[in-house]
Amino acid sequence: QDERYRHFLDQHYDPKPHGQNDRYCNTMMRRRGLTSPCKDINTFIHGTSDNIKAVCEDENGKPYGTNFRISKSRFQVTTCKHIGGSPRPPCRYRATREFRYIVIACEHGLPVHFDESF
Ligand code: UDP
Ligand code: UDP
Repeated sequence: QDERYRHFLDQHYDPKPHGQNDRYCNTMMRRRGLTSPCKDINTFIHGTSDNIKAVCEDENGKPYGTNFRISKSRFQVTTCKHIGGSPRPPCRYRATREFRYIVIACEHGLPVHFDESF
């Protein structure tokens, strides 16, 4: 398995979320190693890894711009936004729950970068 794909899963994949509230973000951002310094914005996708991987194929995705792919189906996601000025921990986050199309980059048929969602 690709190292970049593993990195993507670490940062953006959570199939079974609990809460999806601010506390969820505070905990998850720390647990996934995104809090030194506090990452500004990070999205967790609550789909199966197969459905997310399929965005890299015609099955669930299509080209978007030069480098990206956009999903054909929407995913339940939680976007965590850092609140407060200091990038130093403890980091505090605001959670937004959404049902959205995701824009990602793929390499060798695997997701490697989360760009945005609509
Ligand atoms: N990101 C994310 N969800 C979003 C937007 C951004 O997870 O809806 C993450 C993603 O990992 C991206 C990083 O934030 O690589 C930086 O995003 P960007 O380059 O757009 O900078 P920023 O949004 O912080 O200005
Ligand atoms: N990457 C990419 N296209 C982009 C931005 C990033 O292919 O427009 C790749 C980059 O080479 C890196 C991987 O995505 O290996 C992960 O990037 P990052 O660590 O920023 O993760 P993200 O938070 O963007 O998901």
